[in-house]
Amino acid sequence: MTDTGDGFGAIDTSKPHPARMYDYYLGGKDSYPVDWEAAEKVISLFPSVKTMARVNRAFMRRASRLLAERGVRQFLDIGTGIPTEPNLHQVVQKSIPDARVVYVDNDPIVLRHAEALLRGTPEGRTEYLQADVREVEKILEGAQQILDFRKPVALSLIALLHFITDEHDPREVVRRLMEPMAPGSCLVLSHVTGEFDPRTWERVVRIYQENGIPAQARSGEELASFFEGMELVDPGVQLADRWRPEPGAEPVEALLAPIYGGVARKI
Ligand code: SAH
Repeated sequence: MTDTGDGFGAIDTSKPHPARMYDYYLGGKDSYPVDWEAAEKVISLFPSVKTMARVNRAFMRRASRLLAERGVRQFLDIGTGIPTEPNLHQVVQKSIPDARVVYVDNDPIVLRHAEALLRGTPEGRTEYLQADVREVEKILEGAQQILDFRKPVALSLIALLHFITDEHDPREVVRRLMEPMAPGSCLVLSHVTGEFDPRTWERVVRIYQENGIPAQARSGEELASFFEGMELVDPGVQLADRWRPEPGAEPVEALLAPIYGGVARKI
């Protein structure tokens, strides 16, 4: 079944989509029975996937807030996902009301909900672009309509790169995205890992693949290699939950939230 109702692009409800499965993990309402079925299979293998999704969302908030506090005023967020409050622009516009944010996702359901991403401060600006992260030229061209690449930009690819398998050379994609950005620009990444329980993660990845979603878990070392040539922000690549945790926060066990995060600065 395909819903083309409003001319916003087809929402394919015949197969699961990662944005909708993730929304289901987060307790959102924007998923369909095919997504629930695949998501429930993941949950049966890895019951703490919902905890991991929340840990990842909290990492996004802490990393974006830190960069805004350090004076970054422009954000390019690719693989945005279905809006979930607080969205990135709400986090950064708290400290920088005139921050500019360009969101990118390739899923038509995110486009359908984009208007929630476009409701920012009157001084700031938010824009939404429908594109695949591998369409680097299209993304850079669109982003440059809103963002001034002569000044630092934060590029965030949060919980995205595990959907870009090695055959699509994600390192090259990241390199090309960062290339035109000014020194002082930052790269924010988070990524699931199978390091703590390879058997389970092989099976989880297989569920995605069997549903037509390319996926790949990576090690912390592999994630660190995406930051090569850049200056890592303390404390470097860490489990997302342990990356600059809120004071007093109880760490979640690695097995329950096996997702790495890191931030680096272009020199
Ligand atoms: N960044 C958000 C959402 C992560 S879910 C967060 O961390 O909370 C991963 C998102 O990446 C989904 O919305 C999915 O639609 C998107 N995505 C997957 N493959 C993509 C690709 N090739 N290009 C652009 N977006 C992609």
